[in-house]
Amino acid sequence: MTAPITVNNRTYRWMTRPLVVVCLDGCQFEYISAAVAAGCAPFFGRILAGSGTCLMADCAMPSFTNPNNLSIVTGVPPSLHGISGNYFLDPQTGDEVMMNDPRYLRVGTILAALSDGGAKVAVITAKDKLRKLLGHKMKGICFSSEKADQVTLGENGIEGMVERVGMPVPSVYSAALSEFIFAAGIQLMEREHPDVMYLSTTDYIQHKAAPGTATANEFYSMIDRYLARFDALGATIVVTADHGMNAKHNAGGEPNVIYLQDLLDEWIGAAKSRVILPITDPYVVHHGALGSYALVYVPEDVDQTALRKRIAAVDGVETVFSRAEAALQLELPPDRIGDIVIISRQDTTLGSNRSRHDLSGLEVPLRSHGGSSEQKVPLLANRRLTIPPGNRRWRNFDAFDLGLNLID
Ligand SMILES: [Zn+2]
Repeated sequence: MTAPITVNNRTYRWMTRPLVVVCLDGCQFEYISAAVAAGCAPFFGRILAGSGTCLMADCAMPSFTNPNNLSIVTGVPPSLHGISGNYFLDPQTGDEVMMNDPRYLRVGTILAALSDGGAKVAVITAKDKLRKLLGHKMKGICFSSEKADQVTLGENGIEGMVERVGMPVPSVYSAALSEFIFAAGIQLMEREHPDVMYLSTTDYIQHKAAPGTATANEFYSMIDRYLARFDALGATIVVTADHGMNAKHNAGGEPNVIYLQDLLDEWIGAAKSRVILPITDPYVVHHGALGSYALVYVPEDVDQTALRKRIAAVDGVETVFSRAEAALQLELPPDRIGDIVIISRQDTTLGSNRSRHDLSGLEVPLRSHGGSSEQKVPLLANRRLTIPPGNRRWRNFDAFDLGLNLID
C-alpha cells in the first residue's frame, strides 16, 4: 500500500480502486434532479435516492470554468493556485492576457503528485484551453476532445484516440464534444486501466437549455449511461461542477446587461477606467462574453469608495468589493484582480461597452454564470460517506478528498 500524499497542505490516501473525478461544466443541480424526475437518469437517481453520496458544495469564485477546474485539481481556492479567470490584466504590461498558460499556476496539482507517486493518471478535457493547465507536470495521458485527432504519444501520452473511440472529432460547439470525453474515458478504463481519471466537459448545452428541457435531459441521460459503465467497471466516481448556470434575460428574451464601461466612461471620463470581463475566451459564441462578474481598474485620482457606492446602487448589481475585500472574502489572488470587483444579480450580466459585445451568436435567450448565484453545485459520489456530513462547508474542490479519503 502506497503512503498517503500531501498536496497543498491536504493529505490524500492512495486509491484502492480506480477513481474517476468528473467536472460537469455548468451543472446546476437542477439539471440532474430534473433528468432523474423525468426518468432518464437512473444512475444519478440511485445516488440521489441514497445509494451514494449527494452533497451541495460551493464552487470557487468567480464561478467560471478555469478557476474552478484548477481548484478541483489542486484542492485549493484561486487565492493559492493563482488562476482567477480566463483573462486577467497583467499589471506589468497593461495587457489583457489569457491565463491558460501553466506559468500562471502557483501550486502543483493533485494529478501531478499522484503521477509522481506512481499512479497511472489520465485527463480528458473538452476544450484544449484547459489541457496544459490540468496536465501541468503530470506524467500520463492528457488530451482534449477538441483536438483528439492530433494526439501524439510524446505530447499527450496516447495516440490513435479517434480510431480507438470510433467517433469523429466533434465541433467545439456541440454536446458531442462532451460525449467524446466519456466514450474515450471508458475506452481508457477498459484498455489502459488508469488509477485516476479526471474528466472535464463543456457547458455548451447548459448555456442553451434550462434544466428539465428535452435537450438538457437527453444530455444528462447520455452522461448517466457512461457513469453507469464506469460504476460497472468498479470505479469510484465523484461528480461535481465548476459552476452552476442561470437564465440572464428578461421576459422578452433579451439579455439583461449592465454595460459597465459605458457607465464608467460617462461618470469619470472616457477610457479612464478599464473594465475586464474574465469570462472572455476564444469561444464566446454561446454567451457573448456576458457573465455576472467583472473587474474594474481605476486610476489613483478616482475616489474608489464613492465609485463603489455608485456602482452598488445600479439596479442589477449584487455586491461590490474593493480589491482587499474580494481577495479575503472571495479567496482571490489580489494581484490578479481589479481595484473593484463586481458581482451582478442572478438574472443580470455585466458587460463592457455595448459596442464591444457581439450578441449575434446568441440563438437562444442568454444563460450564463460568474456570480454568487451560480456558486452552488452538486458534489456526488457512487459510494457512501464514511463520516457524518456535519456542518462542513463543502467545496467542489473537495472532490479528491471525498473520492480518496471520505467514502467507502
Ligand atoms: Zn464552465
